[in-house]
Parts: sequence; structure tokens; C-alpha cells
Amino acid sequence: MQMISKASCAVASVRCSRVRSGLCVRPGVRQLCLRKGFLYGFMHLLSMPFKTLRGASRTLRVAQFCSVSNMSSSLQIELVPCLRDNYAYLLHDVDTGTVGVVDPSESVPIIDALSRKNQNLTYILNTHHHHDHTGGNEQLKARYGAKVIGPGIDRDRIPGIDIVLNDGDKWMFAGHKVVVMETPGHTRGHISFYFPGSGAIFTGDTLFSLSCGKLFEGTPEQIPTTLKVEKACNPFLRTSSTEIRQSLNIPVTANDAEALGVIRQAKDNF
Ligand code: ZN
Repeated sequence: MQMISKASCAVASVRCSRVRSGLCVRPGVRQLCLRKGFLYGFMHLLSMPFKTLRGASRTLRVAQFCSVSNMSSSLQIELVPCLRDNYAYLLHDVDTGTVGVVDPSESVPIIDALSRKNQNLTYILNTHHHHDHTGGNEQLKARYGAKVIGPGIDRDRIPGIDIVLNDGDKWMFAGHKVVVMETPGHTRGHISFYFPGSGAIFTGDTLFSLSCGKLFEGTPEQIPTTLKVEKACNPFLRTSSTEIRQSLNIPVTANDAEALGVIRQAKDNF
């Protein structure tokens, strides 16, 4: 298992390589190359596939490599390499044709990807204000008329922002529920976008595999608080919970992976 060491955010250039951040896939979601992730612990997800994908073609379909799909979701997520070592994520609702992009550091690779498929761009989602997450906003907005969505706390620092979202807000992307979670620490206004129907969460520069974002604007307390709540509440991170095991009839002898499989199955049918 290869790990990419993260944490190359440099304040001066405000560059935060997203290679090891951004897209986390919740357990149980069918994944080709991320499927081992949750067997090894808390939100352990990203590094190996992204490293693998790095040298591959310019645009890679996550549906082929790191698929995010389940029975209830028609959301496709595609990685688009940007800059030298970054990625943006294209979201495509196959039912309506609606397309969004998460954290476009530049516009040209996004335009190329959309042009190849003759797609339009409706939304630009930003997790935080750093340039390597928002650098493509204005050109993409000018070209497609896309709406820019970002954290309310950082509304003054998100180029072209149209829709502000705050912690706990629910927003709909072409029929897909998006839950907004404030995840400050890396920046004051950092938010994460959780797509429960697809089991995907875009964590920007807050959380990486075996790491977390540098604390440019926040405090250490803020990030552990976020993680602590998640560890306490997220059933997928509580596979050894007696309460959960009893309620789902998971044998005490089942290992964490087996328990997680049962929990995921229960959630699929919830
Ligand atoms: Zn950043």
C-alpha cells in the first residue's frame, strides 16, 4: 500500500496539493481501487489510487477507477488532473445531465473534459478559498454561467460566489442531497460536501489519508472536534460498538470488516 505524504501546503503560494485529499468514499460504496480503504481504519482512502492515477491519462473516469456508484445513485464522479499535482472532481448526474465541478484550481482541464463530452457546467463547488481550489472559478463561470457555491464564512474570499452554504445546510445537486459540514482548521471557513446517496464526501484540504490539512487559520481543537464527532457518531467508524452489533445481529466474533459490511448493507436498505 503506497501512501502519498501530504502536507505540502505552502502559505506563501497558498498551494495545497489535493492529490491526497478531496474525495473520500464511504464504506460499502462499490469501489474498484478504493475498496480496501475502510478495512484499514478511519477514512483511509485516497492515496493509493491517486498515486496510481497520477501517471495515467489526462482525464480519468472515477467510474472506471474509483467508482462511486450504488443502487440508489446516478451520480458519476470523475477526476480531472489540474496543475502539476492536483485534481478537480466533475460530478455528473446521468439522469438530468447536470454537471458540477468541485474545487477547480484551473479552468482549462475542466473545459477540455467538458468539451470532450459536450457537457455544460451548472455548478462550481468550493470547499475553501485557496487558489488551488478556486483558481478556475471565474473563467468557468464566465464561460458556462455556472453558479459558484462555497462557505458562507469565506464569502468574501471565494471568487464569483453566488450561493453560500453553512454547517448543516442541505443543498440539492440535481436531486442528490448534499449535506454541508463545516470543517475548519485548515482555513476558517472550510466546508466539506457530503453526498449521502452516493456515499461520497469531498473534504478539500481538511482530511487526508493518515493526515489532515495544515492549520493555516484554525486551531488544533477545531479539527479534532470534527473528527471526534465523526468517530463518535458515524456507525461505519464504530464497527466494534456492542450496541450496533446487537441491534444488527452481528456476531461478536465478526471482525471489523465483516461488521462494516453488515452495517453498510443495513444502511443501503434504510
Ligand atoms: Zn488549502
